[in-house]
Amino acid sequence: ATPTALMVGVGRGGQLGILIKGQDALEASGVIDTIVFDKTGTITNGELALSEVKAVGNCTPGELLRLAGAVESGSEHAIAVAITAAARRDGDLAIATEFRSFPGMGAAAMIDGRRVLVGSPKFFTEEGLTYPAEVEAQIRALNADGKTVVLISAGGHLEGFIALTDTVKESAKRTVSDLKALGLRTIMLTGDAAGPASVVAREIGVDEVFSEMMPTQKSAAIQRLQAAGHNVAMVGDGVNDAAALATANLGLAMVQGTDIAMKSADIILVREDLSAVTDAVLLSRQTLRTIR
Ligand code: ADP
Ligand code: MG
Repeated sequence: ATPTALMVGVGRGGQLGILIKGQDALEASGVIDTIVFDKTGTITNGELALSEVKAVGNCTPGELLRLAGAVESGSEHAIAVAITAAARRDGDLAIATEFRSFPGMGAAAMIDGRRVLVGSPKFFTEEGLTYPAEVEAQIRALNADGKTVVLISAGGHLEGFIALTDTVKESAKRTVSDLKALGLRTIMLTGDAAGPASVVAREIGVDEVFSEMMPTQKSAAIQRLQAAGHNVAMVGDGVNDAAALATANLGLAMVQGTDIAMKSADIILVREDLSAVTDAVLLSRQTLRTIR
């Protein structure tokens, strides 16, 4: 490879808001034929709004929000940011200690001697917590409406749930169709439930969607594509995307994402506009053509 062609690629990227970390990233990636997107914060704006705060246990909706906000103050997930902000607008947060976050699942902390969990229904099932069929039906209806639902428990008892809505980035649909027109296979991988995942997938027109994907499953899915002979680019922003970004032939992180995502990626996209992804794919193709 000629170093000058690579340097030109890196320089051109900088002008487009595509920060390429190492010169070899463009060359080593080969010709990308598959592109994998994360959902929350990558395809969507990741600025969630609370649409329902429903108490089903012993506390009022206000108390439920106060508990959830306190637990979430220890997490940097978009859901956590939205819940904590809503709780702070409502009043003071409960005092929490022993924060733990579970990437792709939820968060936990101790409040007044009880362990409070906030997270996906899948997380609750894995933690051995059960919830009534009536709640399950409500979750299903909210999911079908495109809403993400997180459950809240205290001391092992379900206290309620919060439904959240997100919005798809204006540039998402166009970017997916541009990438498809370039011959790429487009895939969305999300830790979110099937309902909200398929609402977004349909809206933007990706070829395939996989939901309830844990961080390790995201990277395993990329490995399977690679084993089948594909060169895969991954676009993500979260802690839950870090392993997948590192596994992909070309990892692209959104600049407003988490530090670990940016550390794991080859390229940082400074523009929030997803057309930067198309530009990065084109740039990598041009650079490869020049050096070969
Ligand atoms: P995505 O792949 O769309 O970015 P994640 O893998 O980060 O989603 O999260 C998957 C699911 O796990 C979320 O939809 C949510 O239900 C749950 N989750 C993850 N982190 C949190 C958190 N801090 N608080 C509540 N729920 C969370
Ligand atoms: Mg994300």
